[in-house]
Formats: sequence, C-alpha cells, structure tokens
Amino acid sequence: MAFELPKLNYDYAALEPHIDARTMEIHHTKHHGAYTSNLNTALQGTAWEGKTIEEIMAGISGLPVAVRNNGGGYYNHNLYWEILAPGGSKEPKGALLDALNDSFGSVAGFKEAFVKAALTRFGSGWAWLLQNDNKLVVSSTPNQDNPLMDVAEVKGTPILGIDVWEHAYYLNYQNRRPDYVEAFWNLINWDEVTRRFKG
Ligand code: MN
Repeated sequence: MAFELPKLNYDYAALEPHIDARTMEIHHTKHHGAYTSNLNTALQGTAWEGKTIEEIMAGISGLPVAVRNNGGGYYNHNLYWEILAPGGSKEPKGALLDALNDSFGSVAGFKEAFVKAALTRFGSGWAWLLQNDNKLVVSSTPNQDNPLMDVAEVKGTPILGIDVWEHAYYLNYQNRRPDYVEAFWNLINWDEVTRRFKG
C-alpha cells in the first residue's frame, strides 16, 4: 500500500492573511506531493514497503538518504497541515497546558523557546514541540529530519512543528522568517496538538 498525499481539511485560501493561498497550493501539491511520490519510489521492492511511516522513521539510520529526505518530508507535512487551523486558534488547556507550564514555566515561556528554535535553525529545517515520556521539549532538526528518526539528536513524539524551509513562506514574507513564525502562531490548532499529547 503506497503512501498517499492527504487532502487538507480546509481550502488553500483559508489560512490567509497569515499564509497565502498560492504558497499553500504549491507547498501541498508540489512539495508534499513530490516527497510522497519519491518516498514510494524509494521504497518500491524493498522490505520496508508496507511498513508504517513511524516504523520507517525509527529505522532511518539503516535506510537510503532518499527515504530519510522524502519519508521525513512526507511525515512532517502531514503533521504540519493538521496542526494548522483557519481563523486563529484556541489556547492550550487541560493536561497539555499543565505540561507546558511544568516544562517551560508558562505558555509564553514555551512560545519563546519555540520561536527561538525556529529562528535559529540555519537554512532549511523544522522546529518542534515533542513529547518524551511525560516531558515536553523544544528542538529543531535540519532538512526533513524529525524527532521520530533514530538519528535525531533529541528524540520523542512531535506534537507541534513548524516548517522553516523558505518554500513555506518566501512568496509572502521573502526573507522575513520572524514574521512568518509570528503569523504561524495565530494558526495553531491547539485541539489537534492536545489530541497528539499523551497526558
Ligand atoms: Mn515544506
């Protein structure tokens, strides 16, 4: 069973003005589309065909670089579309809010750490909020790596992630990554982040 490009739960224009429709369409159809088909090609005829994406991430050190790049790209963008929501977002609450307070002092403390990770990632990559046992941690990874990979410096289950590749923001923000990161904050789907958190 080959991996499939997921449909979005909202229109390409739904995240405007924070993320523009053209960026969304190219990002989804071209970038995520290419990661998906290139992943399928890289796995074809290998023992890894039919494994889950999580199993593939956990064994990535033994797989070709094409699987690392495209499998990471496939997984990361699936998460990215799901943790975004049109029309602003609710605040974290319940067990997730408690865990953010425990780990970062406050939601503001978490935001500061997350934004710093997103802005200090040199070149292309991602910043993450990840869960490691009962702890929440912020990290960042280069390229299409993620915290599920056995090669990751900081391992865990990502529950929130921001794509800081220029293709995620350049049409609207050009070189202004900080403006994109601030805009992203308005779009976080905290219900989905909470669903991914195992309290
Ligand atoms: Mn991307």
